[in-house]
Amino acid sequence: MPYRVTKTIDFSYGHRLLNYNGPCRHLHGHNGRLEIILGSTKLDPRGMVVDFADIKMKIKRWVDDHWDHRMILNKKDPWLPELKKLDSTIVTVDDNPTAEHLSRLLFEVVRKLGFPVVEVRLWETPASWASYRLTST
Ligand SMILES: [Zn+2]
Repeated sequence: MPYRVTKTIDFSYGHRLLNYNGPCRHLHGHNGRLEIILGSTKLDPRGMVVDFADIKMKIKRWVDDHWDHRMILNKKDPWLPELKKLDSTIVTVDDNPTAEHLSRLLFEVVRKLGFPVVEVRLWETPASWASYRLTST
């Protein structure tokens, strides 16, 4: 994939991790930064991989609608029934909501939205990111 474009999307989210002894076992939040990396072997008639405006309109909108300013929890979290009584907008995922897992989930969303995604990175802090990507690129 010789041509690549990257769009950065900032969002805020909360989570906690199960079976983990560090501070992320507590309910807390992050100001996350997503990098959506799209690739192609050729350019469209406009000379683009994808128009940045299309990425913003579709992918940023999805993140704003589903993850921004939301609490993202493991569906097996024993606190979930009580927390959902207090906040029905809590988002649940199938595993621990780590940066790695959220990267894979968004990778699948971006692919379903029709973009030629090659990698999604999630910066959980300014010094730490995780990613999920195609292994053939
Ligand atoms: Zn955390």
